[in-house]
Amino acid sequence: MTVTDSQGRFGGADDHGTPVRLWADAFDDPDRAPRSPFDPPERLLVVGAHPDDEVLGVGGLMSQAVDAGTAATVLCLSDGRGSHPDSTTVTPDQLADIRLRELRAALTVLGVDDMVCAGLPDGGLTPLESTVHEIIAAAIGSDSGAQHTLVLAPSGFDGHPDHETVGRCATRAAGASGTSVAHYPIWLWHWSFPGDPDIPWSTMRLHPLRPADLRRKREAIAQFPSQTRQLSDARADRPVLPPAVLARHLRPWEALFG
Ligand SMILES: [Zn+2]
Repeated sequence: MTVTDSQGRFGGADDHGTPVRLWADAFDDPDRAPRSPFDPPERLLVVGAHPDDEVLGVGGLMSQAVDAGTAATVLCLSDGRGSHPDSTTVTPDQLADIRLRELRAALTVLGVDDMVCAGLPDGGLTPLESTVHEIIAAAIGSDSGAQHTLVLAPSGFDGHPDHETVGRCATRAAGASGTSVAHYPIWLWHWSFPGDPDIPWSTMRLHPLRPADLRRKREAIAQFPSQTRQLSDARADRPVLPPAVLARHLRPWEALFG
């Protein structure tokens, strides 16, 4: 399902999506929505389509894994230059620079210092699927079997073409090398709803976050002002991630589809 606009974007000040209270009612009570503890791997490769996906999706689990001694790497496929295509305040080149710096700052908060940005065009990953696959396969590496490696990537049914391309490629690349992979949702929280029959909820695991992980995640998200704040008074500069969108990513748990 694709529910993006012509630029492949969601959100914005005018589009608040599914209210966070619906997700909270469905999943915040551990008695109704059982948790499974996250088992930190020796090596974690977190793949994202845009600079912020990985923090929104699994920032808390990254924090937890790093604390447990996991060697964590983030691979971001696109440069993020497409978040404000009609802006007269920032150019796409400036956005690409800004978003790279923001991602680095966010990962520093989470204790992750190994970051690779492939710099592919934001909004243009689907036509580059074979390139995306090669980059992810190279990042997984042929020696990954020597360590317990886990790949985390956007969901293949997230509704955003870039996310879905990266999710599919990660599944394929991890499968070819015998590496474990799981998928985190981003925009699913925006357009889907509890009980949505199109979503394989039975394959979803909820991992609790410690208060410290949630705190770090919140602080990491604050490192993305180009996405969370109004860049100017112009409509084209409205935040991509307004508070109503962020609230859905600041639950005391994170979800992975297996
Ligand atoms: Zn994204």
